[in-house]
Formats: sequence, C-alpha cells, structure tokens
Amino acid sequence: MLRHDILYLLAEHPEKYVSGESISQHLKVTRAAIWKQIQVLKEEGFQIEGQTRKGYCLLKTPFSLNEWVLKQALTSTSLGKKIHLEDELESTNVRAKELARQGGAHGQVVLARCQSSGRGRLQRQWEAPSGGLWMSVVLRPNLSLADASKITLAASVAIVDAFEKLFDLRIGIKWPNDLIFNGLKIAGILGEVVGEWNAVRTLILGMGINVNFPREQLGPLLNATTLFEILKKEVDLNILAATILRNLEKQVIALENKEFEELRTSWLERAISLGEEVRILRGEQIIQGTFKGITIDGALLLETDDGVKSFSAGEVQLRSKEGKYF
Ligand code: ADP
Repeated sequence: MLRHDILYLLAEHPEKYVSGESISQHLKVTRAAIWKQIQVLKEEGFQIEGQTRKGYCLLKTPFSLNEWVLKQALTSTSLGKKIHLEDELESTNVRAKELARQGGAHGQVVLARCQSSGRGRLQRQWEAPSGGLWMSVVLRPNLSLADASKITLAASVAIVDAFEKLFDLRIGIKWPNDLIFNGLKIAGILGEVVGEWNAVRTLILGMGINVNFPREQLGPLLNATTLFEILKKEVDLNILAATILRNLEKQVIALENKEFEELRTSWLERAISLGEEVRILRGEQIIQGTFKGITIDGALLLETDDGVKSFSAGEVQLRSKEGKYF
C-alpha cells in the first residue's frame, strides 16, 4: 500500500525531513499522489509535518489502532502475522470464528475499534465503545481440549504482565477470567472452541480491555473502570496489543511444551481472594468456602465444610464473602 510505503520511508529517518522529491523517486509516484496519501495519514491520526522546501517529517504515530503501527510494534512470530482490523464489528469473536471456518491460520488477529454487540460468558452483553482494545485471536494450538482451557488463564496473565510492564500498574485476576483494579472490572476474556475439538483444534480467544475512554461510556450500573480513568491519559493501543500478543505467544508455547507450573504460579500470584472466604454461585445454589487455588485443569479449588471441591469455569460464578461482585 502506497500509504504504508511512505510511512516506512519517513520512519527510516526519525525526526528528519524527507523531501517529496526523494519519496516520489523511491516509490515512483507523483508528488501530488504523495500529498494526497499524507492527508489520509493525518486523518488516521499520524502527526506529519510538511514544509515547502524540506519535505515531510513523521512526528508521532496514532494511539488508536492502526495496522501499520501495530505491525511495527509486533515482536511475536506467529500471533498477529495476519491482522484484520475494522472500524466496527458486531463482535470480534464472531468474526474470528468466521475467519477460522474459512481456514484462518493460527495467530490470525481480529480487531475492531468498537463492537456493536460484544458478548461475555453465557451470552451476557459486553460494552465495547471506541477507545478500548477489542481483540480476538484464532489459535490452533497443539493441545488437548483439557489443556486448551488453560489458555484463558494464560491470556489473563498475558494482560496483567503487559499492564505491569507498560504502565507499572498491578491488576488482579478474578477467577476464571476477569481482570480487576480496586474492585472494578477493567478487562474480560472469552475463550470459545470452534466446532468440534477434533481434527482441527481451533480456539477463539477474545480479550476486551477498557482503555482510552472514560468510565461513563460503559453506562452507570457496571462495576467497571478503564485505564483512562486510572492513568488520566490515553495510551498507545498498538503497543498494548503487541505486548499482549507477545506475552500470550510465550504462554501458548509453554503450554504446548506441557509447562503449566510457571503459568499456574504467575496466575496464583495475582489471584484475587486466594486464601479467603468466598461464595460460589451455581444457578440458585450458593456454596461457601475458602478459595485454595486452581487444579491443573484450571478449575477452582474450594475448601468447604464437606471437604475440598473443584468447580470448572463453565458452570459457576465466584463472589466475595459478602456476595458482592468484588
Ligand atoms: P462475569 O464477570 O459475571 O463472569 P462476563 O465475563 O460474562 O461476566 O462479562 C459480562 C458482564 O461484564 C456483563 O454482564 C456486565 O456486567 C459486565 N460488563 C459488560 N461490559 C463491560 C465492560 N466493558 N467492562 C467491564 N464490565 C463489563
């Protein structure tokens, strides 16, 4: 794409001006065509300064999702090799599933600047206004179905590690797959198996993170927060996405090599309410006990008056002792 070729040229000379003449010679297009593409790039959020005699200088890349910026930021080898980015999708998981059915490869990433009908577990609604990171990854890992459930745990750790590295922020994990800051949800994860888990083992991993928008955009009722609310500034969504994909890739490879202990330890270090009295909701039933840890299948271990019991993520919800969300 001409636009991207221009960016490569400008990025090769950071903080320097590249003349329209030399761009036009390199890319074999007219200077008018270059000017036109520069306008499009500005609309996409690139800060490019143009000076009559000197040419163009790339001052800043956009914080909003942008395929070129994301590609530059990516350090993973398989995850994100192919990127599908749209302004708006009903749901990135739904689109990723379609792409997987059409043969989408391991590591294909689907991103939307906003989602019109995002979903959480059990078809619950997921609010996804623009400014968030709404990302799904097609995974075809070399894992059994039992081991695949650990990928949602891996995604939690991948996001938590990215927040710590990039923003020096420690967020907690609420079993199985919610990320919490000061008792408020900042991100959620939704793993879904595509079709039958047999010959082609495909999993869609959806991650929704409240990033560059104020909390009010989620509506008044939710126990939620956003990174913008915490940091009081916007951050680069491309770098965040790239960092998460890199972390996730490492975790998936570790799982494929049957190394679960490190992941389990990292996960438990960030688990909210570990060792505390909690309630488990199973339909109408409430089971009380002490949260002891997770099994090698990622199930929650609860010490109750009747002994230690395990609960898998699909069937129950975790609540604090008071029954509060957290
Ligand atoms: P749970 O945390 O109960 O397991 P899910 O993981 O299924 O829930 O996520 C869906 C729920 O998350 C919704 O019912 C709503 O309460 C809440 N929610 C929806 N959108 C957001 C958002 N952008 N940020 C935080 N919480 C949200």
